[in-house]
Amino acid sequence: MRREEIKAGLAEVERRIEEACRAAGRSRSEITLIAVTKTYPASDVRLLHELGVHDIGENRDQEAAGKAAECADLDLTWHFIGQLQTNKVRSVASYADMVHSVDRPRLVEALSREAVRAGREIGCLVQVTLDPVSGRGGTRPEEAAALAGLVAAAEGLRMRGVMAVAPLGGDPAEAFARLDEIAEAVRKEHPGADVVSAGMSGDLDQAIANGATHVRIGTALLGRRKPFVG
Ligand SMILES: *Cc1c(COP(=O)(O)O)cnc(C)c1O
Repeated sequence: MRREEIKAGLAEVERRIEEACRAAGRSRSEITLIAVTKTYPASDVRLLHELGVHDIGENRDQEAAGKAAECADLDLTWHFIGQLQTNKVRSVASYADMVHSVDRPRLVEALSREAVRAGREIGCLVQVTLDPVSGRGGTRPEEAAALAGLVAAAEGLRMRGVMAVAPLGGDPAEAFARLDEIAEAVRKEHPGADVVSAGMSGDLDQAIANGATHVRIGTALLGRRKPFVG
């Protein structure tokens, strides 16, 4: 049964989070587990909610908007974690509580305008690229502070912290240590911006060892995704 599968995945992920916290001398309560439900149906979101997971991550607007609507009766926090085009911002601003992928000034402008229009406040993380040749989005580390300043000054937005994806083939611990330094510099200017979104199924342990407050877990919770087509 699907519920049993997800329950087992969740138990294993919880075990890994607790182990990583113990190893790092941190408390489990410092870590928020975001279940990344992309490619999985709204019924899985419901099961996760029943099992006590209330933070849901999605990376494509079309899919996320449908699931958020189907699950509107649940108390969930929706995290938008994918590259975001400005023409999708109006839709995303209608359901996302936190956008992890803020990586350019135009996106800050668009998010601010649509948050105000929707009468909502949207938490923003500045996504930093730790990979010089990455096509996966993110601002360069030396531009993070300026972008954080734009977010902090924008109406309707709240500057919450930073996010990164470990570079393919690199050492995730090294990458997350760099992110932690960037996070600290941002926090000096914006004391409330204490979120560090780092760590996926393969590297959540290294992320927690290096200061992550939010881990984004798909595969280890829900199983291996079918390759995306279309
Ligand atoms: C899909 C995705 C994740 C989850 O990855 P898993 O390896 O399945 O845990 C995390 N972060 C982002 C940005 C993603 O797109």
